Amino acid sequence: MTQDTAGAAQPLTILAEDEVIFRDSVRQFANARVRPLVREMDEHASIPKALVTQLFDLGVMAIETPDIYGGAGGSFFHSVLAVEELSRVDPSIGVLVDVQNTLVINAFLRWGNDDVKRRFLPRLSADTVGAYALSEAGSGSDAFALTTRAKEDGDGFVIDGRKLWITNGNEADIFLVFATVNPEAGYRGITAFIVERGTAGFTVGKKEDKLGIRASSTCELILEDCRVPRANVLGEIGKGYKTAIETLNEGRIGIGAQMIGLAKGALDATIRYTKERKQFGKAIADFQAVQHQIARAAVDVEAATLTVYNAARLRDAGKPFLTEAAICKILSSEVAERVASLAVNLFGGNGFVKEYPVEKFYRDAKIGQIYEGTSNLQLQTIAKQIMG
Ligand SMILES: Cc1cc2nc3c(=O)[nH]c(=O)nc-3n(C[C@H](O)[C@H](O)[C@H](O)COP(=O)(O)OP(=O)(O)OC[C@H]3O[C@@H](n4cnc5c(N)ncnc54)[C@H](O)[C@@H]3O)c2cc1C
Repeated sequence: MTQDTAGAAQPLTILAEDEVIFRDSVRQFANARVRPLVREMDEHASIPKALVTQLFDLGVMAIETPDIYGGAGGSFFHSVLAVEELSRVDPSIGVLVDVQNTLVINAFLRWGNDDVKRRFLPRLSADTVGAYALSEAGSGSDAFALTTRAKEDGDGFVIDGRKLWITNGNEADIFLVFATVNPEAGYRGITAFIVERGTAGFTVGKKEDKLGIRASSTCELILEDCRVPRANVLGEIGKGYKTAIETLNEGRIGIGAQMIGLAKGALDATIRYTKERKQFGKAIADFQAVQHQIARAAVDVEAATLTVYNAARLRDAGKPFLTEAAICKILSSEVAERVASLAVNLFGGNGFVKEYPVEKFYRDAKIGQIYEGTSNLQLQTIAKQIMG
């Protein structure tokens, strides 16, 4: 069917009216409320509580949650728009919102029974941040080699182990913890548990001191004799691997959104700066060599945006999107690094100092190639899908 006869087919970058209104409200918020705090948050490696509260008030902390649970009842594409717009100003805020929506709430919506949804979704909509704890010191790319152990005990489980690199560890009160109920069963033993801050035997450990996205907390979690009721199992026992695969496949599109937002933020700043900065008697933007570098960056950003939007639209349409999600993550994270690097170059010495925004974008870009599946792992997925 051609585009004409399909009727509904639209250019990917044309947004529906509600999407435009939503994007503009997040953009306005990011500029008014987040931008003034970016440098301080990076320096102090923390996000003020008041800003997190404002994110809840804005309606970006439970985007896809149905309104019966207090959420915005939006689409996955809305989440992508929110993460992109926030990351344009600060990718640390982008990832806080990304993890909340595309990993944590996504898992609750897909796998939670009525009781779990009723107990946790209203809190995650109102004021409670969530975290997603899969990785451990010995299991990153090989996530299902995790060793955190959950032993059945009466009407519950006792969990022992340590999780590493957990985003939102500082802010979260609800943690989705993946543990094995049967190490002999391999990945078929993996089960997702809901652990609340304050549960005896559960501690949030050291916070990592990072290269980039410094305001976003990345923490160790320690579980020692941590007892959780059976009612806090998310989904089926032994099916946690499915929960992880399904949510990470989608979460990866969110990271794509974070990276295109970052690239756009760096490009916006570069266009502004090159028009102001004068050398050899004119703005550096007047040199054709500079114009071509900026045009090349715009080509990159457009291509990456199309892959992110396509993967998100496929997901919302209920179509397969595994390959497209891996493609969008790898491309957008590479583009983010390239564009941020060019931004540093075109700011000259000012690109290397903290008074200007681009050195932070450069540092923040690197994470896109690491978390939610490294670039090598994305290539592995793409190769498997296209080569069989
Ligand atoms: C800031 C930050 C936030 C994070 N947030 C979270 C979070 O919220 N929740 C969570 O569970 N985890 C989180 N992580 C963990 C993250 O997902 C892992 O760091 C990532 O999956 C890589 O695992 P690893 O660090 O163990 O690296 P490794 O798996 O040891 O990889 C090291 C290198 O080896 C390569 N490699 C490994 N296996 C293969 C292979 N089979 N073929 C080719 N190359 C391979 C990798 O591509 C990489 O280049 C976070 C990490 C960071 C740094």
